[in-house]
Amino acid sequence: TGSITVGELAEKLNKETNEIIKKLMFLGVMATKNQDLDEDALELICGEYGVEVEEEVEVDKSDLTNYIAEEDPEKLEERPPVVTIMGHVDHGKTTLLDSIRNTKVTEGEAGGITQHIGAYQIRENDKKVTFLDTPGHAAFTSMRSRGAQITDIAILVVAADDGVMPQTIEAINHAKAAEVPIIVAVNKMDKEGANPDRVMQELTEYQLIPEDWGGDTIFVNLSALKGEGIDDLLEMILLVSEVEELKANADRLADGTVIEAQLDKGRGSVASLLVQNGTLRVGDPIVVGNTFGRVRAMVNDLGKRIKSAGPSTPVEITGLNDVPLAGDRFVVFKDEKQARQIGEMRQEIQLEEKRGSQSRVSLDDLFEQI
Ligand code: GDP
Ligand code: MG
Repeated sequence: TGSITVGELAEKLNKETNEIIKKLMFLGVMATKNQDLDEDALELICGEYGVEVEEEVEVDKSDLTNYIAEEDPEKLEERPPVVTIMGHVDHGKTTLLDSIRNTKVTEGEAGGITQHIGAYQIRENDKKVTFLDTPGHAAFTSMRSRGAQITDIAILVVAADDGVMPQTIEAINHAKAAEVPIIVAVNKMDKEGANPDRVMQELTEYQLIPEDWGGDTIFVNLSALKGEGIDDLLEMILLVSEVEELKANADRLADGTVIEAQLDKGRGSVASLLVQNGTLRVGDPIVVGNTFGRVRAMVNDLGKRIKSAGPSTPVEITGLNDVPLAGDRFVVFKDEKQARQIGEMRQEIQLEEKRGSQSRVSLDDLFEQI
């Protein structure tokens, strides 16, 4: 809490210092002009003048968002949407992610060996789309609990032969709480018992009403297994993305969020990052959660070494001196000294917190397989 002297208080209250001193004396507090007032004295004197003591808002130096520069609206450009696939277990999330990746990534990027970095990017009609392949629920709960919002669009997968299930509802609630638009993917249309009308009917209860029925929710029927309807889904994603007017400034130091991270025997700390703003470059001094370092090497989702990565690009980097957590924010600094200072300060804060409580969740808890 900030302190204030008698003289400073007088200035703030627009009174003579002598008057304040007299008043304080009257209240039983002996003080001189340059003396710091304690909280009680401050309450007393302010009560006397009928003003409320407002606690001074201190900038929390551990909060990286304070270091993110104001955005120049002129520099904002369209960026790819970041999409999360959610839904009940066994309704086809993994199959859909694989299907999209297999049909789209290998096209035109022949020879690329796909790498698991927690997200991948595809190209559709000259536009890029980024898919997170961490479990949708974890992406929302763990990341949002640390204030990170990385998803722009949620795909709600509902199996046409099974309908709305508990985790379907959970997914809807997460997406709604995050105010993320939902596209419903009615999956397993190839199955005999497929009943898309029933899915639509059930979802009206959660205010997800198809356009044909007077609502504004997009429904896409598909079979993830057979790769049918994938193009329709991608088209709808691009449509929603256009409506959302997703923008970022590529022309600045990068910031973003950790998708996942682990310790690799040979390479040390390996972190998958989603660049959300700016351009991340090899060599950049970086603070990530409670750790810091310099981007030593960077690869994309095809395992290809790259030198820079713009907004909405998932990358994997090495060069951090510790392993961050999923959902941690990262910020690039101009010079390494500043990155080190802030990184060390955050490490200290974390140590203190750890002494206080042992409640941090492990990565394994957060990312059970989808
Ligand atoms: P997840 O738990 O939501 O990730 O579901 P999975 O993708 O693992 O799929 C669960 C099961 O449903 C697997 O046996 C898939 O092969 C099957 N499956 C997924 N999509 C389809 C589909 O479109 N049609 C059919 N017939 N089966 C599917
Ligand atoms: Mg799965």
